[in-house]
Amino acid sequence: MKIYISADIEGISGIVNWDEATRWKPDYPTFSDEMIKEVQAACEGANRAGAKEIWIKDAHEGGRNLSFLGLPINTKLIRSFSGHPFCMMQELDNTFDAALMIGYHSYAGSDRNPLAHTLEPDLLYIRINDELASEFLINVYTASYVGVPVVFVSGDAALCEHVRQINKNINTVELNKGIGNSIISIHPQLAFNSIKEEVEASLKGELNKCRIPLPEWFKVELSFANHTKAYKASFYPNMRKISATNVLFETEDYFEVLRMLTFVV
Ligand SMILES: [Zn+2]
Repeated sequence: MKIYISADIEGISGIVNWDEATRWKPDYPTFSDEMIKEVQAACEGANRAGAKEIWIKDAHEGGRNLSFLGLPINTKLIRSFSGHPFCMMQELDNTFDAALMIGYHSYAGSDRNPLAHTLEPDLLYIRINDELASEFLINVYTASYVGVPVVFVSGDAALCEHVRQINKNINTVELNKGIGNSIISIHPQLAFNSIKEEVEASLKGELNKCRIPLPEWFKVELSFANHTKAYKASFYPNMRKISATNVLFETEDYFEVLRMLTFVV
């Protein structure tokens, strides 16, 4: 089995403030250590399920949060970003049997994680086909585009609910429950054990039940906090400005959505 892991930080156990997600801040090392441990737990679970090869995309900020420290020898680590539109799913293709998402978080427009956002914090929200879109949704569509099922997601409780609404067969582990500017977290040791056990169970289960069909048409609305960004974005091919701060892009090809996000966000 060949497994892909996309790892973010704003949904790992205990994280609540941007200082904890920002490399040059003193609070950061505690939380990058936790991110590595949660990825390590996923790798251990995957190996118990028989993984031969595990590719890990370090998908937070500049992609320079993870190192091989504590990771098994059958891992490959993708650090930094190539610029390819797959972004947080870089190098994913149909040679992978399944994908896992670690440290994922609620979408922009949600009030259930103090760090809720989608792609960039200056976006008030992204809607795809009229629904608020998470990074999970954007990336699970990328996985569908190349025919790979996403079978496991760990992150905040609201994100996990959102995942189960999209496909109840995708296994989730809830680590943080957001209330206003606070979170209630489970213990990191419990987070480690649960991720390891549930990743193993997910990969031993029916992977195909986790597949998500790609919509036939994509209507993507971006709402910027800053109106000047909407003006600039409106010059992207086939983009329409629909208000002072919002632009709309429509296509039948999901890769064109990803290309647009690469150049506009
Ligand atoms: Zn992130």
